[in-house]
Amino acid sequence: MDFFEFLDSAVTPFHTVSELKKAFEKAGFGKDSVFERNGALIVVRLPRKVNSNTRFRIALAHTDFPALRISPNPDKNCAGVNKLHVETYGGLLYTSWLDRDLGYAGLLAFEKDGQVGSRLIRGSKLFRIPQLAIHLNRGVNQDGLKVNPQTDLDALWSSSSSAADASRKFADVLQAELGGDEHLLDFDVQFFDAQPASVGGFNDEWVYSGRLDNLSSCHAIAEAMLNSDVPENDFLVAAFMNNEEVGSVSRDGAGGNFLQSTLETLWNRYAQNGGVGRSLSEVLADSLALSIDMAHAEHPNFPQKHESNHAPVLGGGVVLKTNAQKRYASDVLSSAQFKLLCKKADVPYQTFITRNDMPCGSTVGPTISASLGIPTVDIGEPMLSMHSIREMIASKDHVDLISLLKNFMGKF
Ligand SMILES: [Zn+2]
Repeated sequence: MDFFEFLDSAVTPFHTVSELKKAFEKAGFGKDSVFERNGALIVVRLPRKVNSNTRFRIALAHTDFPALRISPNPDKNCAGVNKLHVETYGGLLYTSWLDRDLGYAGLLAFEKDGQVGSRLIRGSKLFRIPQLAIHLNRGVNQDGLKVNPQTDLDALWSSSSSAADASRKFADVLQAELGGDEHLLDFDVQFFDAQPASVGGFNDEWVYSGRLDNLSSCHAIAEAMLNSDVPENDFLVAAFMNNEEVGSVSRDGAGGNFLQSTLETLWNRYAQNGGVGRSLSEVLADSLALSIDMAHAEHPNFPQKHESNHAPVLGGGVVLKTNAQKRYASDVLSSAQFKLLCKKADVPYQTFITRNDMPCGSTVGPTISASLGIPTVDIGEPMLSMHSIREMIASKDHVDLISLLKNFMGKF
């Protein structure tokens, strides 16, 4: 699965799921092993035989990323321009969205013959949120650029100089994506950075792209799963969950019942036939989940932002994230499992904790670990510019993560 093609195609959680699903179906994964719910996807490699040694090996990542979503009634008009009101989604770095070429994409729901249908779309035009010129904001370099997300982030999408242009609504643009007998009912459309991913650095050692958090992890999991063999006794599970950036509590988020109900379905379907005589929770307590999400690399211009003994660097290997306040799911035994896995896969690792005087982020790890009772370790690739419209990783860390996951999905 080509990494750059995936980064450029997965521009909304729905597109992430669609791209992943295409890759798995092309590789022969069928209805019994691919489960989809909105912006989430769970793919399973079924074992040859289910017996008392059967465990689950689960790799998790999220399909969503911070974005600006076009609001339900977005149309506004000012200074000869039609603009769109947006709602912020997730912890955006607002300033990074200014002066960028913005594409728009999402899911349209329509009425056809009295039924609701839906279609993924990706618009062909580029819009923009221009910065205020320095001459009109004299203190900006001294005071920093402050962005009010309510008033400063409307996106400019067309001139309204003619009467026809001024009367055009954005819903008309979306309706034009549909067939003549299809009538737009609702939409979930967001902006994305239209610039394709690039290779960077003097030695071509870095990748610059939008959405690396967390498409990078989704890609690594998919790559390992697509290249895995049929396991002897274990279920291999790749879980791509939505809405992590807003707390995971949704129908297709890790705080919903999608993963749990899928595991129950699998266990009821295969273990009872195998006459295993163990409950799903007993087996999960004896299994392992890798919660894979990006980690903060030490910023060369801001080394003071890291705890000096726990400051991962770009290209230094997969990061093990731990937190005494349980913002990460890693515990002593799951961390030990991870370290052993690194040793077997010959992959370097680095350890991250947050400074005590700074709050710590979180992942789907604690949610999944607490609700399923599965030992879980939080890991991921180090990155810079997290939650910017355009982020940065080292390609070596991505290769290392894939090797690690191939091992986890293989002989582990
Ligand atoms: Zn993330």
